[in-house]
Parts: sequence; C-alpha cells; structure tokens
Amino acid sequence: MPAMAQNEGGGVLPQDNKPFVVIIDPGHGGVDPGAKGSYSTEAQVALGIGLKLGRLLSEIPNVKVYYTRTTDALPGGGTNIKAALRWRADFANRMGGNIFISIHCNSTSPIPHREFIGYHTEYIRVHHRRVKRRVPRYRHYTTPNIQEGTEVYVWGVSKDDDKNLALRENAPLLNDPEYKSLFDSSSAVLNTIFWNTVQREYTKQSITLASDVENQFAKIGRVDRQVKQRQVGIWVLHATAMPSILIETGFINNPAEETYLNNNQEQIATCIYDAFVNYLAGVKGETTTQVLAGSANPPVIQPVNDNYSYKIQLLVSANKYPVNDPKFSKLEGKVVREKDRVNDSTQYRYLLGNFKTGEDASQRLEMIKLMGYKDAFVVTFRNGKRIDQ
Ligand SMILES: [Zn+2]
Repeated sequence: MPAMAQNEGGGVLPQDNKPFVVIIDPGHGGVDPGAKGSYSTEAQVALGIGLKLGRLLSEIPNVKVYYTRTTDALPGGGTNIKAALRWRADFANRMGGNIFISIHCNSTSPIPHREFIGYHTEYIRVHHRRVKRRVPRYRHYTTPNIQEGTEVYVWGVSKDDDKNLALRENAPLLNDPEYKSLFDSSSAVLNTIFWNTVQREYTKQSITLASDVENQFAKIGRVDRQVKQRQVGIWVLHATAMPSILIETGFINNPAEETYLNNNQEQIATCIYDAFVNYLAGVKGETTTQVLAGSANPPVIQPVNDNYSYKIQLLVSANKYPVNDPKFSKLEGKVVREKDRVNDSTQYRYLLGNFKTGEDASQRLEMIKLMGYKDAFVVTFRNGKRIDQ
C-alpha cells in the first residue's frame, strides 16, 4: 500500500505539498436551533465557537479551513434537516477534507417528579351501581437535570461498514495518481484490504484527536466526560471520508454552562486548536513548533552546489599514445591522457568524454566495452576532481 506507507503518520496526507484541509461543521442552524438554553440556542453557540476555531486554525501555515455554514442557516440552503446533514458530509468530501470537526452542545431533559398531595373522591360505575372511590392525587413537576462537561464522539464500531463505504466512494485519495495506478486494474480483495487499513488508521486518528480535545478541556478545568463512540445519531461522522469527531462543548440547559458557552468561546476554540496542532504534528511526524513555523510547507530541494561530471577510463598503459591515435578515433569523443607515477614508474591513463550524468556515462560504457575496451569503467569527478578509482 504505497500511498499509505509513504506517510508514516498515517494515510491522511496524500501529498506533503497539499494544504491540510479542515472542515468545521457548526451543528444545526436556521430552522433547526438544536438544544435550547434560557437565552441562547445550540445553533448560535456552535456557530460562534466554529468561526473562532476556524480563525485560529487558518493561522497555521498550510492549513485550509472550510465551514459547512458561516451564518444562522441550515447548510445547503434548504429547510430539511436530514438533507442538510447529507449536504454537510457531501461538502466535506467534495472539499477533500483531511479532518472533519463537528461542533455541538449537549442538553438533558428535565428530571420528572411525582408528589402525593392527598386524595380526592370520584364515582365510578360498577354493574350499574355508582360506587364511591378514593383516588390518590399527585403533583407532577420537573427539576432541571444539571449535567456539566464535555464529550467528544467518534463514529461507533457498528458504523464501520458505512465509514468504509464513504471512504471507497469519496476519499480524496481516489484522485491520487498513485492510488489510481495501484488499483485501476487490481483485485477487489486488495481493494478491501486497502480501505480497511485506511479505515483503521482513520479510527485511530479520530480517537487520538478526540482524546486530546478532552485533555485540553480538562486542563482548563472542564469536566471531562470522555471520548465516546456513538452507534446511532451522528450520521456525519461516518458519512465523511476522513477522520471525524463531534464535540459536545457543554450543556446548554445548565445555566452555568450556558453562560460559559456564550462568554468563553475563544477559550473553547483554543482548546480545540491546541489539540489540533498536536494532532497535525503527529500526522506529519513533526514537532508542534515545526507545524506552527510552517515547515510543513512544500519541501524545498536544496540546490546542489557540487558539480559532478563523469568520464570513461579506457585503459592504463605505460605507453604514451597521442590522444588522436587511430586506436581512439572510432570512439566519438575527446580523449585525454593523464600522467601518473606509481612506484617510480610512469603510467598513462586515457579518459574519454565528459558526461553530465552517471547514466549517460554508463550507457556509453556499454558501447565502449563492445568495441574492445573490456576493462573500461566510469569515473566520477566532483568540481573537476576525480573522486574514485
Ligand atoms: Zn446538536
């Protein structure tokens, strides 16, 4: 699986010189406000945090951010919540996302209570007779279910098949020439192994990022409710052909958390940003400093200052032949003679040509050998100086 093996951090980066594409998905929007607090909605909070996160991530060199929405409207412009979900995933796939980050708020239903408040009398009919009956009376009421903290989701194992399908159909890798050359004519079995590998890798990467987002939240004192796999309900997580996470940034129905979610969006975004920087460093096999300094930009090939050239050594002889001797005339190329003293005796080396690449010289050598110079070989010069025998 060359396309995978090439990137030790995983298969997320098909090519190093492409920007790393982050899809930010603020949940809900428009006709779908999501969970409600006392004065704000999940859709508003998710958008606020999403936009702040995007601004931070855009500062990282070679990172490109796309949002599924930037206004209080359902993505895709419609009013159908299900269609909007599909649109989010399609958009992420179309943009060639390398990671999908969905932002939401949690909410809990109030806790129902029943309190006995006495009896009242009622009459019922039993066999045509009116019967008096005492009936207990209850007061029904609810109290707020105060939960707090953050949760981060990755898709559930039961959705692995769906994720696999999304990958096969949408992965940006499909446009990678290397992938094409590998799989255009190859077997279905190989294909399956490949996508299973990609999927396992993406699962691993999603969990890595999700865990670190929770770590960062815990560092600033949020209640860490752990990374979870959700088997149902988060369709976007397995419909996107990339590692994907969904962050529940807090409980909007908890008054204290609602205040926090509205007033500390920059801090929440920064936690996610910090986790992302760590994640990207891991994927690229770089330090976070390198990631932020932009060493992730296309590697610049250093110009080689050394000037290499190649000649073919035809023979070594004690005889001093003129370089235009008839024995060299068939060789097509300039012959030079070098004088060498070995153990008090003088020897002459005869060299042919001046080749720019070792390959050119080797090709020519084949012909030279056929012409009878059985011991001929290629010699290398660096900046005009011979560097081998
Ligand atoms: Zn939600």
